[in-house]
Amino acid sequence: MRFGAHVSIRGRIYEAADRAARLGCECLQIFVGNPRSWREVHYPPEDLAELRRRCRRFGLRPLVAHAAYLVHLAADGELYERSVRHLAHALRIVEEAGGLGVVTHLGSRRGLPLARAVRRVARAVGLALGGSQRAWILLEGSAGRTLGATFEELRMVLDALHGHPRVGVCLDTAHLFAAGWDLRTAEGVDATLAAFQERVGLARLKLVHLNDSRSDLASGVDRHENIGEGRIGLEGFRAWIHHPSLKPLSGVIETPGFDRMGPDRANLQRLKRLREGGAPR
Ligand SMILES: [Zn+2]
Ligand SMILES: [Zn+2]
Repeated sequence: MRFGAHVSIRGRIYEAADRAARLGCECLQIFVGNPRSWREVHYPPEDLAELRRRCRRFGLRPLVAHAAYLVHLAADGELYERSVRHLAHALRIVEEAGGLGVVTHLGSRRGLPLARAVRRVARAVGLALGGSQRAWILLEGSAGRTLGATFEELRMVLDALHGHPRVGVCLDTAHLFAAGWDLRTAEGVDATLAAFQERVGLARLKLVHLNDSRSDLASGVDRHENIGEGRIGLEGFRAWIHHPSLKPLSGVIETPGFDRMGPDRANLQRLKRLREGGAPR
């Protein structure tokens, strides 16, 4: 598995690549604006071309964007339209920068029955993808309480999109753990991925988020912790990153950092040591 981090785009957007390289990243994730604002930031084409060049120069692949936290794909009216517009905007940016795609949360069900919520989400994803040609939307599994907390819900959205060729899934270890998947042991990791394969299909899994969990198994609460410092622990991550079906993928950390300054070199070092140390016995 290749490792990377979520990094800031402070300054010029292409400086994210320098930041990632300094941390020792092999891939990277960015926001394309303030994740808590709807304001669309437009980047000069030459800046996006420079981001593409720097990613290539530093061997960073893939580049992915994470959508704003405000996105609720099962919403209606203004919130729905803003969510679709934001995703389409993020897709165009990432495509121009040569990236893989945009990771998004599905958001809450907003009181809708599941089947209707799923239809709304699928329609939003389809509409957003209409504005780009190559970039993917990666639906992120949630920790609970919002859509995407179960593999069945992810499957339902994919089914409603009739196998759209640019829709994939991103799994976050902290979210899985909070949603009740016990990733502390090799057996637990095997069981989780076997269930995912059966209910969704590993072919749809395009990225993972590597975060330890500050909250308990099945707590439904999304709180990230540094790798090995949370409830999942190092042996869980060893099993996860060495799992044969995940080895070809990339994993992005969104950890608080050992100095609480965000994803850092020390977390990546831990993962690399686990990678070099071999699979669990
Ligand atoms: Zn996320
Ligand atoms: Zn999270």
